[in-house]
Amino acid sequence: MPVPTLTAILKRILKQPTAPFHEYHVRKEIEALLDGCPHIKTKIDKFGNLLVTYKNGKRKGKLPWVLGAHMDHPGFVRTPNDKGKPIKDSWDFLGGVPKPEVEKGVKRGLRKVKGQIGTWNFPVKITDGKIEATACDDLIGCAAIISTLWDIASLDIKTEFHAVFTRAEEVGFLGAWHIGQKWPFPKDAVFVSIETSRPVNGAVMGGGPIVRVGDRLSVFDSDAVAAVMRTATEQAIRVQRCLLDAGACEATAMQACGRRSVGISVPLGNYHNLSDDRKIAPEWVTMSDVTALVSLTKALVATEHVGIGERTIRERVEMRKKEYANHLKAGNAAF
Ligand SMILES: [Zn+2]
Repeated sequence: MPVPTLTAILKRILKQPTAPFHEYHVRKEIEALLDGCPHIKTKIDKFGNLLVTYKNGKRKGKLPWVLGAHMDHPGFVRTPNDKGKPIKDSWDFLGGVPKPEVEKGVKRGLRKVKGQIGTWNFPVKITDGKIEATACDDLIGCAAIISTLWDIASLDIKTEFHAVFTRAEEVGFLGAWHIGQKWPFPKDAVFVSIETSRPVNGAVMGGGPIVRVGDRLSVFDSDAVAAVMRTATEQAIRVQRCLLDAGACEATAMQACGRRSVGISVPLGNYHNLSDDRKIAPEWVTMSDVTALVSLTKALVATEHVGIGERTIRERVEMRKKEYANHLKAGNAAF
């Protein structure tokens, strides 16, 4: 299989209908897209998450990374009975979107049904500047990870890293929780939630991917945030460093399972399909933020990111203590 371009991957992933617990179309397309990719092994765990390991020689850098994105998006599913069988003509909306807005969307005729899934019916539009689709959250994250795997493999880069594509994030991180509990990765591996999020606290659309120091529920691993920031600086990738506390992401779930975690988010317009005037609308991201994200994840898994010229906080304070020793003496004597 020839190496798929980012645009080709985006097109194929973004048009798949998806909803919490009904991620089969997305998972199948990810597997199809990764078919023939060298140096990778894929596995489906007991919860239905898709796990990928890239292994070509030894890992670069100190930290074993696990890139993660979720395959679901808020949407309608047919109401199940006790046996999990769909009840006729009955729908549940799963995920965080206020009910009045959802109902108005249905009245406007925006719901499109495929099997047990009902999604908002918007076309996928991809230009050099902008990507628009029903479910950028988090199919953009899935596409970015697929693109990372292919780019690293096609360049025959010697390294080792992991990726997970999870289920049922929008209803409370169920897939991520399963992985966090089982953790089929090295003990010290660091989870990187690859997300799309509403830009807040100074973050802007088009300003580059956001290195997320935390979310609404928790703050993330300080060393991992520093490693991502160092990598961005070394590779001259424009990023924003922010607390994105308008929502929560899978890094919080992994961390609650005792796994070191950090997040990288692409700024998202019309988060969860709500426009500024609270109408159901397509989500959108800028192409430059997505390409910068892929550059960053590639650099993260493929470089040493040793932070040349960077000193630890301990080293910096020790240095200052020596440098200012005479001032400390002088000041102390004058007390
Ligand atoms: Zn979401």
